[in-house]
Amino acid sequence: MPAAAPTVNPQQTGRWPRRLGLSLMLLLVCAALAAVAYRYAEDAAIDRLRLSGAQRLDTYAAGLEHLLSKYDFLPGTFELNKDVIALLRQPGDEALRRDVNIYLERVNRLAGSTSIYIVNLKGVTQAASNWRAPDSYVGDYIAFRPYIREALRGMPGGFYGVGTTRGEPGYYFARGIYHEGRMLGVATVKVNIESLEASWAEAGGKALLTDAHGVVFLSSVPEWKYRTLAPLTPAARQELEQSRQYFSHALTPLGLREVRALDARARIVAGPPPATGPMLSQSRGLVTRNWQMVYLSDLAPARASARAAALLTVLSEALAVMLVLYARQRHRLGRQRQRAREDLQRAYDQLEHLVADRTASLEQITRELRDENAVRRQAEEQLRKAQSELVQAGKMAVLGQLSAGITHELNQPLTALRTMADNARVLIERGRHADASANLTTISQLVERMGQLTGQLRQFARKSDTRPSAVPVADAVTAALFLVERRIAQERVGFRMATHPRDLYALCDSNRLQQVLVNLFGNALDAMEMAGSHPRQLAVEAGGAGARVLISVTDSGPGIPEDVRAHLFEPFFTTKPQGKGLGLGLAISEQIVRESGGRLRAESLPEGGARFIIDLPRAE
Ligand code: ADP
Repeated sequence: MPAAAPTVNPQQTGRWPRRLGLSLMLLLVCAALAAVAYRYAEDAAIDRLRLSGAQRLDTYAAGLEHLLSKYDFLPGTFELNKDVIALLRQPGDEALRRDVNIYLERVNRLAGSTSIYIVNLKGVTQAASNWRAPDSYVGDYIAFRPYIREALRGMPGGFYGVGTTRGEPGYYFARGIYHEGRMLGVATVKVNIESLEASWAEAGGKALLTDAHGVVFLSSVPEWKYRTLAPLTPAARQELEQSRQYFSHALTPLGLREVRALDARARIVAGPPPATGPMLSQSRGLVTRNWQMVYLSDLAPARASARAAALLTVLSEALAVMLVLYARQRHRLGRQRQRAREDLQRAYDQLEHLVADRTASLEQITRELRDENAVRRQAEEQLRKAQSELVQAGKMAVLGQLSAGITHELNQPLTALRTMADNARVLIERGRHADASANLTTISQLVERMGQLTGQLRQFARKSDTRPSAVPVADAVTAALFLVERRIAQERVGFRMATHPRDLYALCDSNRLQQVLVNLFGNALDAMEMAGSHPRQLAVEAGGAGARVLISVTDSGPGIPEDVRAHLFEPFFTTKPQGKGLGLGLAISEQIVRESGGRLRAESLPEGGARFIIDLPRAE
């Protein structure tokens, strides 16, 4: 089979770039979807964080307000104490100072504040709850502190700051002490609100409180304290240094960097150390105190959930793509299967067609064969008939050849018969009955012999039925010999016959075997006569060889030359003069033997003479 030449489908050449383009587009769409999912999930998570952050801010602010409101009223109560009023009016009375100190000490303990002290109009502390301590406020000049200044100006002051004596932070409540409509001094209560930091830190998240300048003064992260959200303006820095609000702290910027503003109160910032990564920053003002409460939530969980959403989207997309590919593959397979089914059906139809055609032509051939067979049978029948007629013709030819001898054979006894009959009549007339009787016996013998001869002739001329039977070989030889007996005697041919065993049977038609033998005897006698051979010998030997019977007819004639031997069994081949031979004898004999399942062959003997061997199946 020749190798199939590679074929290029023009449709396929343009398909790959298109597929690549489609794949790229699909990839882009998937990536875009994943990005949208990421953004959406992040926004949702940020929204949740904002909600909880806002709640925290509200809670922390309320907590702070509540804590501070507890002390709001306290500075106002000191003008009700007459000792306080008296001390402010008579600043030199040490006994009175001592009473006021003890009083302040008690109130401070009861209120849970850090310290309480009374300042005169010059800004010098007259009495303090911590009067016993070595670094007591008593006698300190603190007119530069903003809350004192404001209170002296008649405005109740609130202030968060770091103490200048001990450096302790706290919220300062300050309020003027009035007596009979005249201000005598200022009462100050300092409250520690740092405890809030611990509660913020405990709740998680990062909360801070800044003042109007953006200075962080409370923070759940200790490192961020006394730092600023943004760099301070020179004016603010100067003011803070004057008031020594944060004592000696440097107030450096925290380094919060805005990444994205969400709205006025929320933005995403890059967190300062020790925080890492972006954070959600939410702020809320405190109404009463010009402070900002800031709450920072870590964005890492939001980012993680966004990543998970994006991953889920990618996985879903991959699943969808796989499903689509699977469906397409199934569809394609289905189509291929359908095509294969159709091809198969077509092939099947073609095959059926082919089979029908072949069947028709086979039927035709069968019909023709049947016709041919009939013709052949007819031809065979005719051939058989022709052969049979040929055999008969051969016989007749032999008979013709024998006729001269036979006529002589019959004429002689006939003459003898007439003579002897005449003699018998004379002898009876003369009364010599005994001699007449002897004569009659001889006549009877002669008649019998003649009857035998004619019987043999009839037998020989008869058309045989060619049905094979067990033929005694010796009988067939004797019967054949009978027809050439006279020639043997006349031509002085020595005849010898031997069969072994005596009762040897051949499976053939006896009449035809006789015909073959008569032919062979005649040919042998002809050959010896024509060559003038001397002495003349004719020998017949028959013997069994296993399942075969071999009958040989040997003469002492000239033998058979090689060129003659090649044509011996051909019809009409003869070396005899015209009128003597027809060239049919051996051809017919060979055919007869072959039809009986045997073979006829000839050989030339080295010592001279020819031998014909009839090989036939043996019969029991
Ligand atoms: P026909 O006897 O009429 O010639 P045959 O077919 O019987 O035809 O014989 C063919 C030829 O075979 C003979 O003409 C003869 O030449 C040769 N032939 C047959 N028998 C012998 C024999 N015994 N010796 C020599 N030649 C023979």
